[in-house]
Amino acid sequence: MNSVEHLDVLIIGAGLSGIGAAHHVQADCPWATYAVVEARDDLGGTWDLFRYPGIRSDSDMFTFSYPFRPWDRDRSIGAGAEILEYLCDTAAEFGIDRHIRFGHRIIAADWSTEDGYWRVTAERTADSDDGSGRTETVELTCSFVFSCTGYYRYDRGHVPDFPGMEDFAGTIVHPQHWPQDLDHDGQRVVVIGSGATAITLVPSLADTAAHVTMLQRSPTYIASLPGTNPLTRAVRRLVPRRWQGAALRWGHALITQTFFKLSRRWPAAVRRVLIEGVRRELPPDVDVATHFTPRYDPWDQRLCVVPDGDLFAAIREGRASVVTDRIETFTPTGVRLESGDELEADIIVPATGLEMLFLGGIELCVDGEPVDPAGRLTYKGLMLEGVPNMAMAVGYTNASWTLKSDLTSDYVARLLNHMRRTGAAKCVPVNRDASMASVPLFGLSSGYITRAQERFPRQGSRFPWQMHQDYVADYRVMRRGGVTDDGALVLSGAPKTSLSAAARRSAEQTQEVRSA
Ligand SMILES: Cc1cc2nc3c(=O)[nH]c(=O)nc-3n(C[C@H](O)[C@H](O)[C@H](O)COP(=O)(O)OP(=O)(O)OC[C@H]3O[C@@H](n4cnc5c(N)ncnc54)[C@H](O)[C@@H]3O)c2cc1C
Repeated sequence: MNSVEHLDVLIIGAGLSGIGAAHHVQADCPWATYAVVEARDDLGGTWDLFRYPGIRSDSDMFTFSYPFRPWDRDRSIGAGAEILEYLCDTAAEFGIDRHIRFGHRIIAADWSTEDGYWRVTAERTADSDDGSGRTETVELTCSFVFSCTGYYRYDRGHVPDFPGMEDFAGTIVHPQHWPQDLDHDGQRVVVIGSGATAITLVPSLADTAAHVTMLQRSPTYIASLPGTNPLTRAVRRLVPRRWQGAALRWGHALITQTFFKLSRRWPAAVRRVLIEGVRRELPPDVDVATHFTPRYDPWDQRLCVVPDGDLFAAIREGRASVVTDRIETFTPTGVRLESGDELEADIIVPATGLEMLFLGGIELCVDGEPVDPAGRLTYKGLMLEGVPNMAMAVGYTNASWTLKSDLTSDYVARLLNHMRRTGAAKCVPVNRDASMASVPLFGLSSGYITRAQERFPRQGSRFPWQMHQDYVADYRVMRRGGVTDDGALVLSGAPKTSLSAAARRSAEQTQEVRSA
């Protein structure tokens, strides 16, 4: 008898998307056997990995939390620890934690058309109490792969090759690997970067550091928003409790989307409003034109939000400052800039971004043929052209990731039910429109995205191959529309080894394990 375990659905990754996906599969497809495989020893993904001081969301938590478990606090921005706690509590409350297999890194997945399932290979780390870090290979099969692997490498962040880095006598620390025992009290810190991570780190470090300098090559749009906003207060006061979650999610989603659309339609006007907002927060001697006026239009890159203007407060109080310049070289005592100025530092933090990674580095094959994602279109932003029975959770770049990843999970669950109802064992997106133009998947010009876009799939110029960055439009077609009504998702019947036969085999094995 075949000793390889079979599952109906294999969810890869136990971060925000994987836990949400597991909830939809178990709630909406109670017939399905499923497991969540996670490379690390803990759940939470991003929110477990990143531990730098002050880590927090930059989206509001009303849209970043799951619709099925709304955020019940009043502050819009969540601290990293609160978000991790929320994810752990969600997994425990719905019994999802019992389905997670930690220490399993999926390295390969090969779809067999003949068998009608995926052969999946995982590298399993030996139990942590063993301490050896030894790995072994585990094989399993599944009818459907749901990749929730996020979009970046966990083992390293992006650090440009700055000259002279090895000469620096102080400490260099990347935000992705923040040592919990690093003491920055009374230290001079230079944070390199101007993205969300730098903007979060600076005010937090500045609480106790001697001084924090944010060293940026070019500025970013930064908006200060109240920690608790009037919409939240009004909804909490006026709306019955059971509807508050939906009211806050839709309210915040619509505000964010309207602002995004205004930025696209009238960039000059939005630019003026944003820059004026910064000017109001800072003393007149701060050069807003140099340090806070980006060269791009609002939302060409992700807009950074600072709750209650904490970054501006640190600058006003002289605890932090901003320098816009380029690094010529690191020196033993800090960095020398192209302008000739020097910044002295005890700690340097290259908050220089992530290294993007598609599908968690999994080697994907269809019938033994490697799939190069770079040549493919994404279907509805959740499946890959020509790749059967596989979905992936990819969130929005202009709004909360969860808004899209939850629509994706809901859609996948409906698709699985539809296949079961109609007896289809295979679904594959097929593009028959030769005139379909393609553009990069993520419509932002940020460095970490443009560096990687050649390794990622693309999106088409028209739906369903286009990835909407628009919750309302996606809600209409993904939640309200039929699962296959665009004709691009081709369903076909049972292969040699049917889904139900495979599931039967799985049940038999489970029985065997139980009785062993
Ligand atoms: C510092 C930081 C702050 C952010 N703040 C926001 C925000 O405020 N709002 C927002 O919308 N987005 C934000 N993001 C983006 C954020 O990553 C997503 O919102 C969200 O957390 C992604 O969840 P995920 O589960 O899809 O991916 P991740 O959180 O990256 O989780 C992926 C999981 O998959 C596992 N995995 C990967 N590959 C494999 C494999 N081959 N085999 C097994 N397991 C694998 C990983 O170990 C990880 O646990 C932020 C990102 C960062 C880095």
